[in-house]
Amino acid sequence: MKYYVRTYGCQMNVADSDEMSRLLDARGLGPTDDPEVASIYLMNTCTVRQHAEDRAFSEVGRLKRWKAASPDRKLVITGCAAERTREFLEDRFPHVDLVVGAKSIGDFGPIVDRLLERQPTDLGLDYAAGAMGDRVSAFVTVMRGCNYSCTYCIVPYVRGRESYRPMDEILDEVGMRVEEGTRDFTLLGQTVNSYHRNGGRGRHTDFAALLEAVAGVPGVGRIRFISPHPYYMTDRVIDAMASIPAVCEGLHLPVQSGSNSVLRAMLRNYTREQYVELVARLRDAMPRLVLSTDLIVGFPGESDADFEKTLSLVEDVGFDWAFVFKYSPRQGTPAAGLPSWPDDIVEARHRECLERVERIAIGNRSRFVGTTQEVLIEDGGFGRTRGNYKVRVDGDLPAGELVDVVITNAERATLEGMMKNTSCDATTPDRSSNCPKAFG
Ligand code: SAM
Ligand code: SF4
Repeated sequence: MKYYVRTYGCQMNVADSDEMSRLLDARGLGPTDDPEVASIYLMNTCTVRQHAEDRAFSEVGRLKRWKAASPDRKLVITGCAAERTREFLEDRFPHVDLVVGAKSIGDFGPIVDRLLERQPTDLGLDYAAGAMGDRVSAFVTVMRGCNYSCTYCIVPYVRGRESYRPMDEILDEVGMRVEEGTRDFTLLGQTVNSYHRNGGRGRHTDFAALLEAVAGVPGVGRIRFISPHPYYMTDRVIDAMASIPAVCEGLHLPVQSGSNSVLRAMLRNYTREQYVELVARLRDAMPRLVLSTDLIVGFPGESDADFEKTLSLVEDVGFDWAFVFKYSPRQGTPAAGLPSWPDDIVEARHRECLERVERIAIGNRSRFVGTTQEVLIEDGGFGRTRGNYKVRVDGDLPAGELVDVVITNAERATLEGMMKNTSCDATTPDRSSNCPKAFG
């Protein structure tokens, strides 16, 4: 029996899809890239913006034919849109067999057992389910949910309050993935750096300690994390980032707006000045930091002057790249009740902001031309720098190889480079040479 997975949305959803896939694997099902040979079609949905939800729903509609081709086929809809619109999905699409909301992903194993009419699987089996494939890079969820109430955001409604995985469980997962070939780890959570656990006997763990512990797992080469919230980017976290060699100099730190009145209306809990000052501290500690962000344009009440402040923030901070989102009203959130801007205004701001971001980004990228970057090869001739730039590398290199690459072109978001040319004995990797290297 085969299953097919379609994932919409953010890295949290990718990680959730991986987790659900592992649970299906543990039940003896196998993955396939071809929905036509699949008995289970698992669609993991996103609801952060209306557009993502619309795309998922139209795919659910089209899958009526897929389902009709065989009565044994099961269509399973999971994730954030499933959490928000369960009743609508069940009423509007009777061909859907099962709806599992984002808050119930942790119970996916027993839920699937009921769907497949099987005896509940031994829970130990779920725990021991292997990691996905032998990927060089992997996401590891360290916390779920969000305690913030950003006025535009649906996430706290569909994913619930914050909960933090025990450190031992995280370290076990990291160790298991290292054994399967993973070297590059991205720790995931909606406010990932708020991670903390109060252990017994006064033991307290925070995000800085988590970074240190993950770096201590033998075989871990690189560590990143997403999404950190500026409020929890404490000196302890900055010190840990700067002092732990495995933690990469690439940070995605969402700011959303450059205007204090918009930030206040969004309930982001920091000002423009505090964000700029935080970036200065980060760059003091990590001069080669590659910094990216999320921006929302067209938020209710965002005046021309507010929008100009977002453009000037892009210039002042000099982001290396950014996601620019058009504000999308989400039913049930406080901002959804406020008057929206007409589409043409939002479109125009979106275009202008993207152009500004791209202009700065190209200037920043050009500084890499001629430099040597440490690149971890992922697959198909592509790899990543420590700053998280994707690089197309000349030459046929196996995934997992760590090589020095001279950057030859930075006009596009994906850099181009050539492996540094030396004669070397590839069987003795050495950090100081230009041969394939080893982590450590
Ligand atoms: N928790 C992360 C944080 O606070 O930085 C962000 C998680 S959210 C899933 C990813 C991004 O989607 C946000 O940073 C924001 O820019 C964008 N986003 C969230 N809600 C949105 C909305 N209603 N309209 C447009 N963009 C939105
Ligand atoms: Fe949404 Fe704000 Fe929580 Fe991020 S911090 S998930 S934007 S409510």
